[in-house]
Amino acid sequence: MSTQPTLSDGASTSAAAIRFHNTMSGETEPFVPLTPGEVRVYTCGPTVYDFAHVGNFRTFVFQDILRRYLKSRGFRLLQVMNLTDVDDRIIQKAAAAGVSIREYTDKYIQAFLDDRAALNLEPPEFIARATEHIDDMVQLIQRLTDRGYTYTSEGSTYYRIAKFPDYGKLSKIDVAGMQTGARVDMDRYDKDNARDFALWKAPKPGEHSWETAIGPGRPGWHIECAAMALKYLGDTLDIHSGGVDLTFPHHENEIAESEAATGRKFARYWLHAEHLLVDHEKMSKSVGNFATLRELFARGHKPSSVRFLLASVPYRRQLNFTPESLQGAAGSVERLRNFASRLRSEKFPEGASEAMAERAATARREFDAGLADDLNTAQALAAIFDLVREANIAMDRGEFRQSDVAVVLEVMEMFDAIFAVLSDDDAAKLKTLGISSASPALSDAEVEALIAERQAARKRRDFAASDRIRDQLAEHGIILEDSRDGTVRWKRK
Ligand SMILES: [Zn+2]
Repeated sequence: MSTQPTLSDGASTSAAAIRFHNTMSGETEPFVPLTPGEVRVYTCGPTVYDFAHVGNFRTFVFQDILRRYLKSRGFRLLQVMNLTDVDDRIIQKAAAAGVSIREYTDKYIQAFLDDRAALNLEPPEFIARATEHIDDMVQLIQRLTDRGYTYTSEGSTYYRIAKFPDYGKLSKIDVAGMQTGARVDMDRYDKDNARDFALWKAPKPGEHSWETAIGPGRPGWHIECAAMALKYLGDTLDIHSGGVDLTFPHHENEIAESEAATGRKFARYWLHAEHLLVDHEKMSKSVGNFATLRELFARGHKPSSVRFLLASVPYRRQLNFTPESLQGAAGSVERLRNFASRLRSEKFPEGASEAMAERAATARREFDAGLADDLNTAQALAAIFDLVREANIAMDRGEFRQSDVAVVLEVMEMFDAIFAVLSDDDAAKLKTLGISSASPALSDAEVEALIAERQAARKRRDFAASDRIRDQLAEHGIILEDSRDGTVRWKRK
């Protein structure tokens, strides 16, 4: 992890006005960063006590689409993400494993970074580990104490919610209606009011703790994010993002901490990704439908299919994750890769077609308009698939010209700068994770469809595409036998 954050440069284009849905206002608003041309983003990272599940990665893929899009629109970006490497579960699990919390969490941090790389998630400009920022958290708690927002009980320090009248403004929670004794936080410490939350937790016997100016102990979860966001992004950041389940209490508490300490608005835009559902149930360990990325890969699903599926549904819609939808995503990625390959390898008649240039310009405009509209990835993808279909038809009819290649390829590159699925590197990625790249079984109908596609490629003498489809089938264990009369028989290995 680097020591100082630096801003990333993006490329510049002229395009549609960007609008984001802001959880704070409940409305979709024009996006205007505090400093023109520069966007400061805070992302709640994982608690690294286990492998992250695919539901967590839905949020991380959404944040990747967000950052790639902002960069493509020319913004300089500073995204900070935390890693929560101390909490009750980590302490318990490390103790059970007989290792230090550092050693215990190192393993899952590395796994998280490897999983991110497999999904082509760009690294944030800065990743902040909670245990390396204890001093910053203590200082923030001291500021809150100086301003009268805290009290202590049995060695722990609590935030007094009654002192912060804005409490509840993000989640629209009815603070008065929150019952005394209701469980609103993960900790189990004594406090004046059930609504109050721990900023600093007194040590328990045998547990890891830090000696600090506010006594021995360890930080509460919410103070970690507030302290690290303020440290690296300033009092007011442009975008704070996370999964929708973090809205309350986590983000509400971050607001209470930071705004009470600075007297300024903490985040200008709050973006929250909806849940991932599995067979219409929220994906989480508690429901038992938990799947890590590695489990999906071991079952034969490709990194690009997972990324495409998670990216293809706009982030504020619930996404129902099923093996069928993953197969569908794999098919979509193959279609796009085959098209890009056809563009690069096939020979077309000389010249340029005005119609295709216009078609490409429309696709560019619609792709950008979709993303500008609160990252409507479904609309952006529709623009690309329309172009692919129409270009394929023009190619089949001999109407596609050699000079159209560059124009259409440029659109595909613009698409891939955001979606990042065109590069055929799934096998290499799985190898890096130590997973052999067994491919999922294709249905008979899928095999027949691919064979028909290959026959069409051979008919137009596009042997590169034909070979590619044969390889693709071979990857799935399908062997083709070309007979002399031109028909094709196939069998499973
Ligand atoms: Zn957070």
